[in-house]
Amino acid sequence: MLLVFLIMSDSLTFVVVFFGIFFGAAILLSIVVFSAQSRNEKNKREYQLALERIELEKERASKAIIMIPCQYCGGLIPQASTICPNCGAKRV
Ligand SMILES: [Zn+2]
Repeated sequence: MLLVFLIMSDSLTFVVVFFGIFFGAAILLSIVVFSAQSRNEKNKREYQLALERIELEKERASKAIIMIPCQYCGGLIPQASTICPNCGAKRV
């Protein structure tokens, strides 16, 4: 949305902002990778586990976003849930 606005308003501003974000992210990533590499093996493992946990959280969050309407009350039920949080009916 913001990027689209920037393209339309001023392409030079867009390029500057885009590369600013891109290089900012690249520098941040390299700092994160470097600090992870400078740690000992135990901390490296913990870092990897943290990344895996983040991935799992992302996966769980993306699943929770999918909502199915209840066939009894019309309320939205998360796909991961087996019962309707609104009326308590079992999801078919
Ligand atoms: Zn319901």
